[in-house]
Amino acid sequence: AMTEIRDLLLSRIRDVPDYPTPGVLFKDITPLLADPAAFAALTGALADLCARTGATKVVGLEARGFILGAPAALRAGLGFIPVRKAGKLPGATLSQSYDLEYGSAEIEVHAEDLAAGDRVMVIDDVLATGGTAEASLRLIRRAGAEVAGVAVLMELGFLGGRERLVPALDGAPLEAL
Ligand code: AMP
Repeated sequence: AMTEIRDLLLSRIRDVPDYPTPGVLFKDITPLLADPAAFAALTGALADLCARTGATKVVGLEARGFILGAPAALRAGLGFIPVRKAGKLPGATLSQSYDLEYGSAEIEVHAEDLAAGDRVMVIDDVLATGGTAEASLRLIRRAGAEVAGVAVLMELGFLGGRERLVPALDGAPLEAL
């Protein structure tokens, strides 16, 4: 069943060459979102993973991690916490900056949304260099919470995200569906 789901998901991801800049192969998930069977299969697989790892909360990474993480959280019966790009959350935040190929980026979470005793599953669409996911793990731990795992629809293996993330996961799973 898992290979059937995998084939269905793969068939609904569109490769867009040279977007948003030359040399990048963009993985477009909008065909998957538009297909309710594929979207439900993905949401179900993510919710199952939350249950298997004993997650108590779901963090979604802006922006496509919101689209995948919110329905997975609901289906698993868990709360959803958005991790946003800096400057978008109105309450008291924790911020974490991280290096990009050129320059740096910053992500934030509402401080009151995570606390000691929480086990957090991080959800996003694509794992590329792993920089964003790694920064989210720091935010979660700085809030006193524990990491249940990281789940993505796909990883771009040649960018080394897994190698970067695994040491930061401390034994928690990294699952690419
Ligand atoms: P990174 O921090 O390098 O792992 O980048 C991850 C973030 O960038 C994710 O939130 C993805 O949505 C997005 N991203 C990076 N590369 C791609 C790609 N080739 N296609 C689609 N999204 C990408």
